[in-house]
Amino acid sequence: MTMSLLRQSATELLRQLNAGGTTSTELTHAFLDQILKHDPQVKAFLRVDRQQALDRAAEIDRRRGDGKPLGLLAGLPVAIKDLLCTRGEVTTCGSRILEDFKPPYDATVIARLKAADAVLIGKTNMDEFAMGSSTENSAFKKTANPWDLSRIPGGSSGGSAACVAAGMAPLSVGSDTGGSIRQPAGLCGVTGLKPTYGRVSRYGLVAFASSLDQIGPLARTAEDAALLLEVLAGHDPLDSTSIDRPAPKYTQTVGQPLKDLKIGLVREHFGEGLDAEVEKAVREAVRVYESLGARVHDVSLPHGKYGIATYYIIAPSEASSNLARYDGVHYGHRTDEKKMIAALDAERAALVAAGKDTEAAALDSPLVRMYRASRAEGFGPEVKRRIMLGTYALSAGYYDAYYLKALKVRRLIRQDYDEAFKKVDVIAGPVTATTAFELGEKVDDPLAMYLVDLYTVSANLTGFAGISFPAGFASDGLPIGLQLQAPPFEEERLLRAAHMFQQVTDWHQRYPPMVA
Ligand code: GLN
Repeated sequence: MTMSLLRQSATELLRQLNAGGTTSTELTHAFLDQILKHDPQVKAFLRVDRQQALDRAAEIDRRRGDGKPLGLLAGLPVAIKDLLCTRGEVTTCGSRILEDFKPPYDATVIARLKAADAVLIGKTNMDEFAMGSSTENSAFKKTANPWDLSRIPGGSSGGSAACVAAGMAPLSVGSDTGGSIRQPAGLCGVTGLKPTYGRVSRYGLVAFASSLDQIGPLARTAEDAALLLEVLAGHDPLDSTSIDRPAPKYTQTVGQPLKDLKIGLVREHFGEGLDAEVEKAVREAVRVYESLGARVHDVSLPHGKYGIATYYIIAPSEASSNLARYDGVHYGHRTDEKKMIAALDAERAALVAAGKDTEAAALDSPLVRMYRASRAEGFGPEVKRRIMLGTYALSAGYYDAYYLKALKVRRLIRQDYDEAFKKVDVIAGPVTATTAFELGEKVDDPLAMYLVDLYTVSANLTGFAGISFPAGFASDGLPIGLQLQAPPFEEERLLRAAHMFQQVTDWHQRYPPMVA
């Protein structure tokens, strides 16, 4: 019984809950047990509050039993990427600098999940400040891919993707700044959607790059992603970039197939570097759509090749500004001041004793020392690299050459997409050039790690919507994802298209052996 629960879609679990076939307590237990059993190896979670989840499940069961009205997710466990503020509960963003941070408020999406009667089951591992493509930049642990524990789960929402793939939660929430929902979803064989910029409130999301960040769902199926997105999406006066237009009822439309779908295949996507097995799976997936009546058109995104360069100027620039708040005073870890002042005094005394008075006078003040030491101790190497890159790109002498230029290229990329979407309804292509790589394989090569985002960053630069879902397996047994992109606010189209595919394929119903 327990085992079969882990293999159900969230939509199916909800049906069973409402029909009295199971209880929230029973299924929360099942997922928590799976976590106990397999998370020591997968390491998808940073924290799991077992008792709190079970209390919440029991409360929802009681309300259901009493015939009280319930929210859309009533009793379903949901895992949360650890960069969404949860009131009174530690929210680390994968960083030492926020190791003890307990937000005094809930992010809007957390408030919405609570109002929808979700059971929040735990906080998931991630790259520090969402900077990374493998979750190896977490300050706390390295998450493994449930399909092969020697491989990365993708990132930065690696914990959120791995826990769904491993049957530890039916639904999870992630964030996507350059691919961090779609890429781990692709590499772990689950469905992940990055909504249009402005569709989901960012209030209470620990900011990385504010013009690129979006929160979105990870799930087994498109239907499940529709269910979760329906709860997450909608206008929020607390986020000035949140769009004031009603969010559709995704669950009501996801089952409607799209007729005469026009699919764009991007000429530039099928070049050097794309793994042959990934290409084959993508082309076969497109043939599945053709068999469902879709027509394929050739499109060109000529500026796409500048996507990575553009993203890696804009994202670090915004990050360097956003992360200025972690100084040990406003937010975050503060260095041991007594030790720091004693060290400073000793340094000064030594310089004076050596007759180097000018150097002694030039030493940092205790305040500056405190900022420096706090940030040096709190941030990991990748975060420091981004802060330096961004500060450089924004500096007076280089702003025009880098940041401003990047903004202009961003506009050109957007124009390519606008042109393409005059011809087609969705753009189909790979999520990543290869399947999941080995843990440790790229940690010493930041550039190689950045290139992993080749196919995903454009949707963030344009702000458009994108979805990734399972479309095959490589000969090494690892999942391959298909990405679909759509014009702004066409999440509905993406979900319907993915659902159509999932009606006639079973890639999304395969489970790694640990989900017995
Ligand atoms: N891998 C990209 C980066 O390191 C994207 C991360 C993300 O989407 N949060 O910035």
